[in-house]
Amino acid sequence: MLQIAKSMGALGTETAFDILARAGELERQGRDIINLGIGQPDFKTPQHIVEAAVKALHDGHHGYTPSQGILPLREAVCADLNKRHGVDVNPDNVMIMPGGKPTMFFAILMFGEPGTEIMYPDPGFPIYRSMIEYSGAKPIPISLREENEFSFSAEEVLAQITERTRLIIINTPGNPTGGAVPEAEIKILVEGLAKHPNVALMSDEIYSQMLYDGRKHVSLLSFPEIRDQLIVLDGWSKTYAMTGWRLGFSIWPDSLIEKVNRLAINCHSCVNAPAQFAGIAALEGPTDEVEAMVTAFDERRKAIVPWLNQLPGFRCVMPGGAFYAFPNIEGTGMGAKELQNKMLEEAGVATVAGTAFGILGEGFLRFSYANSIENIRKAVDRVGDLLSK
Ligand code: PLP
Repeated sequence: MLQIAKSMGALGTETAFDILARAGELERQGRDIINLGIGQPDFKTPQHIVEAAVKALHDGHHGYTPSQGILPLREAVCADLNKRHGVDVNPDNVMIMPGGKPTMFFAILMFGEPGTEIMYPDPGFPIYRSMIEYSGAKPIPISLREENEFSFSAEEVLAQITERTRLIIINTPGNPTGGAVPEAEIKILVEGLAKHPNVALMSDEIYSQMLYDGRKHVSLLSFPEIRDQLIVLDGWSKTYAMTGWRLGFSIWPDSLIEKVNRLAINCHSCVNAPAQFAGIAALEGPTDEVEAMVTAFDERRKAIVPWLNQLPGFRCVMPGGAFYAFPNIEGTGMGAKELQNKMLEEAGVATVAGTAFGILGEGFLRFSYANSIENIRKAVDRVGDLLSK
């Protein structure tokens, strides 16, 4: 019998991938499945970005790059952050990563160990808790509640800080709820955190360019008083429809950049070179396709939320960002997992139970509206038929 490390037993997963696999299996059996489960744009990567990668390959960029990423890409990231948030970031503090996930993986590994605490949003991206438990740290949930439109209370977060707290993770706009934390709440958090210079903050801003109704993203980079404590996670996956490219970036304080670079060298060496050239084209090229994508998401958001609200037993707040609706389904009398499975197996509609995102996700389902409006309408109709059976 092979003996594997005990810590492996603490590792969780991202259920959306299991659902994607099950939906694929059902499709192969000839079933018509509408996938509102996986969190990725249904658009193609803009052509000029694809071409930049192809050109990089033709130009001979086939080798390793610096582990931190090529300088022109890190410079382009800084210029983009300056344009979007008016902030100055030194390219030396930028880490190019194979996607958004490795930043959370490395940040949690860096701070988590037995005897420490790490705070994370609940409901939230499942990998946060998974990795916290893997590291041996104690996961301390930050409650995101429906009545607060899935924002956190900064006072509550600050009140949970103990001498064991090493890292706080926030994510706005958020997965799975689409909740956008108001600026006032961010300011209270920053003010409080500045009094705890020994506590790090990881701000997951991967959906920062998907905000609606005139909301503007407030990057945590806008607050110089916490820069020495701050890690910002961002990337190309969602904004540029590049989930499969595995390209992300993060900003690290001076005291941590060498350490994260060392983790990268131990893990993946560098991000593949053509993807990095594609990243430059994305940041420096035309933005019309990105804008069109956000407009399409906004239209779908405005369609799906009222439709979900018409379903018996459903109640859905209007999300402020990302591409998820997170209806409360308690009124159906079913648990989240039960309804998720019933909808997939009987109605051919893939969604993700809120419980995949934390204890507070019970009673909710995540609908990704990264699908055509016709498919969304069809999916809601199918769920309506299922519920009225
Ligand atoms: N952070 C959040 C909140 C996400 O929802 C996701 C992907 O779903 C990621 C990070 C990871 O993104 P990537 O696919 O670039 O690793």
